[in-house]
Amino acid sequence: MLGAIEAGGTKFVCAVGDEKGRITDRIQIPTTTPEETLPKVIDFFKKYPVEAIGIGSFGPIDVNLESPTYGYITSTPKPGWRDYPFVQTIQDTFDVPIGFHTDVNAAALGEATFGAAKGLDSCLYITVGTGIGAGVLVQGQLLQGYSHPEMGHILVKRHPKDAYQGKCPYHGDCLEGMAAGPAIEARWGVKGVRLAEREEVWELEGYYIAQALMQYILILSPKKIILGGGVMNQKQVFSFVYRYLEEFLGEYVSLPELSEYIVSPGLGNDAGITGALLLGDRARAESRKE
Ligand code: ADP
Ligand code: ZN
Repeated sequence: MLGAIEAGGTKFVCAVGDEKGRITDRIQIPTTTPEETLPKVIDFFKKYPVEAIGIGSFGPIDVNLESPTYGYITSTPKPGWRDYPFVQTIQDTFDVPIGFHTDVNAAALGEATFGAAKGLDSCLYITVGTGIGAGVLVQGQLLQGYSHPEMGHILVKRHPKDAYQGKCPYHGDCLEGMAAGPAIEARWGVKGVRLAEREEVWELEGYYIAQALMQYILILSPKKIILGGGVMNQKQVFSFVYRYLEEFLGEYVSLPELSEYIVSPGLGNDAGITGALLLGDRARAESRKE
């Protein structure tokens, strides 16, 4: 039996299940402070004989095994979580292998194993929600280097008619600052869910997302791109993404039919938690090798 944690900025999803992605029990816990949230997480897993735990976490996190702060949540503005030893706190109670990656890397793994990119050794998973983040599987491995990628914060070219200054506290008008849910709300004055009929909103959204996809495609050449997160519930964004991506890339790169190449998550809201189970499975396999 494997344990899985999808640690998000608003809620934690905890589950137990197996390496086939079958979930036998799960709970949701609101994300408040570590002192309040994590004991509830620990109580949940105490009921089960978990052999390993996989964690897909909001970030930024320290995923560098060589680092003294490996397993920490690092520079988040979320009260209480900054420089917090997340993996260590779980490990204090459960002496089992723990896999630790970003939430989006976990989701990429879930989608590549059981979802829209099933069977592929390469896929890019992007969430457009409260923030923008992406995880990527390259030749079967989740991409990380010195740290994990932060693909939501790339620079984008402003639309000539867009005067919105951008909402990223670090970069202003980076991709996340221009195109995440809070930027849409700030630019148009109401929440995205209430802007469904306003075509210009989603065209602009497609314009920024297509720029980002262009960079990701040129650099990573993923075999499949999965676009999830709350904002992507506005399905009309996809057609604008296809249109602008074709325009931006020109004839230069040959790609599959865009409507099959850039898709919604096959696992729906379960991509992250399923991927976290698989991170647990990978951690278990690693520890057996040692
Ligand atoms: P999180 O990123 O916090 O995990 P979500 O992926 O649900 O959560 O993203 C939340 C963001 O997505 C909010 O900014 C919200 O306004 C926006 N959002 C959620 N649902 C919709 C929708 N149907 N249409 C447009 N925007 C939405
Ligand atoms: Zn930024």
